[in-house]
Amino acid sequence: MPETLHHFVNGARTAGASGQFGDVFDPATGEVTKRVPMASASDMAAAIAAAEAAFPAWAAQTPLRRARVMFRFKDLLERHVEELIDLVVSEHGKVREDARGSITRGIEVVEFACGIPHLLKGEFSENVGTSIDSWSMRQPLGVCGAIAPFNFPVMVPLWTIPVALACGNTFVMKPSEKVPSAMLRIAELAKEAGVPDGVLNVVNGGREAVDALLSDPRVASISFVGSEPVARYVYTTGTAHGKRVQALAGAKNHMVVMPDADLDLAVDGLMGAAYGSAGERCMAVSVAVAVGGAGDALIDRLVPRVQGLKVGPGGDPASEMGPLVTREHRDKVSAYVDEGVREGAKLVVDGRGLKLQGYEGGNWLGGCLFDDVTPEMKIYREEIFGPVLSVVRVPDFETALNLTNAHKFGNGAAIFTRDGDAAREFSSRVAAGMVGVNVPIPVPMAFHSFGGWKASLYGDLHVHGPDGVRFFTKLKTVSSRWPTGIRSGAEFNMPVSR
Ligand code: NAD
Repeated sequence: MPETLHHFVNGARTAGASGQFGDVFDPATGEVTKRVPMASASDMAAAIAAAEAAFPAWAAQTPLRRARVMFRFKDLLERHVEELIDLVVSEHGKVREDARGSITRGIEVVEFACGIPHLLKGEFSENVGTSIDSWSMRQPLGVCGAIAPFNFPVMVPLWTIPVALACGNTFVMKPSEKVPSAMLRIAELAKEAGVPDGVLNVVNGGREAVDALLSDPRVASISFVGSEPVARYVYTTGTAHGKRVQALAGAKNHMVVMPDADLDLAVDGLMGAAYGSAGERCMAVSVAVAVGGAGDALIDRLVPRVQGLKVGPGGDPASEMGPLVTREHRDKVSAYVDEGVREGAKLVVDGRGLKLQGYEGGNWLGGCLFDDVTPEMKIYREEIFGPVLSVVRVPDFETALNLTNAHKFGNGAAIFTRDGDAAREFSSRVAAGMVGVNVPIPVPMAFHSFGGWKASLYGDLHVHGPDGVRFFTKLKTVSSRWPTGIRSGAEFNMPVSR
């Protein structure tokens, strides 16, 4: 019998009242391993009520005290990292060391949040007018809501939770129903670290739970990470309900390979960035833009590497790439490959139809490599989110840059070159939120902020780092004088500094 999961509300596991459940699968075997409760609107309302009740006391704690809770939280996450890796591998399917890396990236955001007393220091100006002082401070928003995708069950929730909590907010997280277990464990560890009941709540479910979060007037902000159509929906619905929203969406990250690039470095970069985590990363490189003579050299080197990819269960240390998250997603990615062939792209490595002995029910797809892809093709225009790399050949740098900039997505972009001039020009003019120079996946560290441009992000502020603190706080500016100052009588004109 599959294990039945729960929600985590007001510091305790709760069953919810919806009576609805979804299946959680092991992607390597295709078996149902758990049942996850799918929250109703009233289940979500109960969690929001708990978060609202917990807010005043948590917001009133000193930042230093909240930082100390974050220190303990970081320590507990580190001590339970193997357990978290097991949960990620068993529900997402990615390989263990990749899971470890992504969890480390999440823990680094907790580490960043430990500095919250410093980060919340405001600004002060003495004598903005005669004997008038002014200062700005940042205060928490209240109840913050978040909706997470399947592809980083630990890292993406940790992009927001530590910063939001350290700023004094309370939180309701709706994880992906495909990978619910890691977030439930994180909430228990947060409680053990000293996060008071009601400050961090986890509600499992799908659209009904999301809609309840988006429309509830007690929720001040929404942080969404997921696919573009849902991000757009969450942004328009959340803002229409008066909420502050950051909705991080899909991607089609281009990596430009100049003819002067170190091609071995570029090919290593492409292998990891296109096929790591089976391409299920928003910062995966899915388009290699080969400039001038780089095309033939790239294809010659890539073909044997993609054919030799070690695909297997995430728990097997020999695996370089695991299965896709669900059968449905595998079939969708495989259908994109069919479509690319129909559209006339050259499929130089075909990973379709891969079978693994002993894992016949797994969601397997080998690495796929297309050459001669053109911008009109659906496989170029749309996000595939699987182990499929498209090579587009262009004559020169300007065409490569214009191609990258014309795409509707602008999450990350990279250039591989030995030419500092080309690299500088690319970094300056490319329309993407995160740029790599000889770095294929330029994911900013926790103390910088992560986010894309164009259709890769709806909203104004990126996650974690300085933008995270801005997102999870409201700015207040105080002007103050004391009666000992100059008395000038009633002023009917706009006061100015003299
Ligand atoms: P998804 O959009 O299907 O789901 C994301 C979340 O939204 C889940 O919690 C899901 O339950 C919920 N959801 C799904 N459909 C909904 C609907 N119609 N109404 C309301 N809520 C709904 O995304 P996914 O498949 O879980 O994740 C993969 C996507 O996430 C990819 O497009 C990837 O690029 C994107 N992603 C983006 C970033 C980024 O930083 N830009 C990071 C990670 C993943």
